[in-house]
Amino acid sequence: MQIIITQNAGFCFGVERATKIAFDASKELDGDIYTLGPIIHNPQVVRSLEKKGIVAKKSLDDIKGGTVIIRSHGVTAEVLKSAEEKNLKTLDATCPFVKKAQKRVEKLSEEGYTVLVVGDAKHPEVQGIVSYASGDVYVAANVEELENLPHVEKLGIVAQTTQSQNNFNQIVDACMEKAREIKICNTICDATAVRQSESTNLAGRVDCMIVIGGLSSANTKRLASLCLEIQPNTHHIESAEEIGRSWFDGVGKVGITAGASTPSDVIEDVKKTIEAIAA
Ligand code: SF4
Repeated sequence: MQIIITQNAGFCFGVERATKIAFDASKELDGDIYTLGPIIHNPQVVRSLEKKGIVAKKSLDDIKGGTVIIRSHGVTAEVLKSAEEKNLKTLDATCPFVKKAQKRVEKLSEEGYTVLVVGDAKHPEVQGIVSYASGDVYVAANVEELENLPHVEKLGIVAQTTQSQNNFNQIVDACMEKAREIKICNTICDATAVRQSESTNLAGRVDCMIVIGGLSSANTKRLASLCLEIQPNTHHIESAEEIGRSWFDGVGKVGITAGASTPSDVIEDVKKTIEAIAA
């Protein structure tokens, strides 16, 4: 049985960086260390950090002192300010691409633009980006949600980093009649698109597709559903223990892909387990 792994399976740049910051902190810092929410959508990594004394807390209210690590998709400006007011030491692991979107919003507001963030209003990354606007700001996940956006003089548009280019383009097009002047800041990060295109391409060339990643990770779930549309023998797992032997009956080629929050040792474990089944 041939096993093929997509080139960019696993950690993206921002997640790799945030995870390194957290593990380095466990070695270098004294005192209590917390992450605000799980550092990444991967239970194994979260448990491994817990063993090193770094605990995920939902809110700053649950943290009395010590160090707080901000995860890759960032937090609101208010949360950073409250951490400072509580005299917490902050380790900001916000992905630089997310930071860039936050800074763009801040600048657009300063320049008098009404800001539109293309993305999911409930997502913490979007809530963080929105918080940097000092003037009017709107969020739209699709063209229908533009209904609430009034006609304005100057409109500045930024994107949640994981938006699809196609959706962003459609919204930008629909905004043309909403303002006299439009400034477009394409803050999409291509890590998601690259993983999706590599994975769907591979799903079309194999008899079984394994998608590894947190069952609660929106990006991994999307990766699995895209692969499933192409290859019905697609399975979304978090770890090698969940692999079923029957998935490989009559299979010549297996494809493996993994979401941006999946560590390389988990991918390696899955590969070895499949090799053992095939032997
Ligand atoms: S997907 Fe892109 S923006 Fe998000 S954490 Fe990864 S590298 Fe950063």
